[in-house]
Amino acid sequence: MADTNSGFDLVVLGGGSGGYAASLRAAQLGLKVVLIEKDKLGGTCLHRGCIPTKALLHAGEIADHTRHADDFGVKATFQSMDMAGVNSYKDGVVSKLYKGLQGLVKSRNITYVEGAGKLVSANTVEVNGTKYQGKNVILATGSYPKTLPGLEIDGKQIVTSEEAMKFDYVPKSVIVLGGGVIGCEFASVWKSFGAEVTIIEGLPHLVALEDESSSKQLERAFRKRGINFELGNKFKSVSKTKNGVTVTLEDGKNFTADVLLVAVGRGPLSQNLGYEQVGVKMDRGYVLVDDKCRTNIPGVWAVGDLIPTLQLAHVGFAEGIMVAEEIAGLNPKPINYDGVPRVTYSEPEVASVGLSTAQAKAKGLDIVEINYDLAGNGKANILKTAGSVKLVAAKNGPVVGIHMVGSRVGELLAEAQLIFNWEAEAADVAQHIHAHPTLSEAMGEAHLALAGKPLHAHG
Ligand SMILES: Cc1cc2nc3c(=O)[nH]c(=O)nc-3n(C[C@H](O)[C@H](O)[C@H](O)COP(=O)(O)OP(=O)(O)OC[C@H]3O[C@@H](n4cnc5c(N)ncnc54)[C@H](O)[C@@H]3O)c2cc1C
Repeated sequence: MADTNSGFDLVVLGGGSGGYAASLRAAQLGLKVVLIEKDKLGGTCLHRGCIPTKALLHAGEIADHTRHADDFGVKATFQSMDMAGVNSYKDGVVSKLYKGLQGLVKSRNITYVEGAGKLVSANTVEVNGTKYQGKNVILATGSYPKTLPGLEIDGKQIVTSEEAMKFDYVPKSVIVLGGGVIGCEFASVWKSFGAEVTIIEGLPHLVALEDESSSKQLERAFRKRGINFELGNKFKSVSKTKNGVTVTLEDGKNFTADVLLVAVGRGPLSQNLGYEQVGVKMDRGYVLVDDKCRTNIPGVWAVGDLIPTLQLAHVGFAEGIMVAEEIAGLNPKPINYDGVPRVTYSEPEVASVGLSTAQAKAKGLDIVEINYDLAGNGKANILKTAGSVKLVAAKNGPVVGIHMVGSRVGELLAEAQLIFNWEAEAADVAQHIHAHPTLSEAMGEAHLALAGKPLHAHG
């Protein structure tokens, strides 16, 4: 007979961004919470995703700055990457945040259970023979890196982001299969580290979910950096030799490299966890939910990469918080997913919020657009970065999309998301003074131009 621990208000299965955010917020609201995690608290984002990749990108940025120091009148010589040093820096960042998060969970009196859990009834999760019962259960088991038929991950020559993140050497050459966010970030890292990089993407553009103008600017910048890419051409097969891999595409073209990174997206981690047996409605492995993250079973909720919303850590946080507040009776507003900020942290960065031109047109909106080129921005010239801030706005109405390309533009999203989510019009933003010289002036200038009074812009 299994032991039963009952009396919880909330049982959370999975301690990644979605699960731990729900737990922290619920505990803050006075609910009795048990959080079950089979691996490490913090999940993909902290241990295998956002944080380690951004540390790698930052190391790459420093390598590039060193290589190009001469352009800024600084004498420096780039010698080589020291991957032991890079990994120790990266792991140091992760472990500091991990400790902080563990402390946070402890301080909120959340019962933390280590082990693989399985949903055994609508209100019960079983872990190693012990049952945890609560009034509510949140499923937050996240996602795993997908691959394609005939493409077996061996962890050495053919890898996913999980192994790529831990490499203790810089491959001479890499093929990146998939030109989405994760593929472009790794392409950027490896190019900065000194590898020869080729991206293969079946769709017509890199970061194809972004506004087409952003994709084109990223492609231009990558070309300039010497990152090769093959667009609109699909993977057919791969063969391995002792020293590398050869990828063949549908049109017969071959590419050879030391390593193949498979970055073709992530699938929901939902198999053999009891979800179907308990009757949770699913589609292609995703748990289906309503706009408050309720599944079809009363008292069972799901958040994060497990549900078919944007696979981003901050979306998981927001969904977790929303569910905790709903359970506590605060009746929070549903999430407007168009208003979620999105960043590809490559060099240059691609950042956006709201609708692309194509999406706005598909919605039947009568739109106007402004493209403010960073060439007119003082700080962008100081940083020697190229790119733009593009606005999509309803005619005589609010801004419905903001799309940016350039070094560090991800930091401009804080303002962009307020503009979008507060449904600001060009004139509302144009009256606000932006500090000079900052990249944020480009946001101000774009709105000045849209309001009909451009300063450092032609037209
Ligand atoms: C390379 C990479 C880079 C990324 N970069 C960014 C970024 O820069 N910004 C961003 O916003 N997002 C980024 N993401 C996405 C982000 O990491 C995910 O969206 C986020 O982690 C999803 O949170 P989650 O809680 O749904 O799932 P996860 O973080 O995957 O957490 C799920 C947890 O559940 C646990 N679990 C699974 N099954 C069980 C079980 N049976 N019992 C107990 N525990 C279980 C897992 O061990 C895991 O810890 C990146 C992802 C990757 C892979």
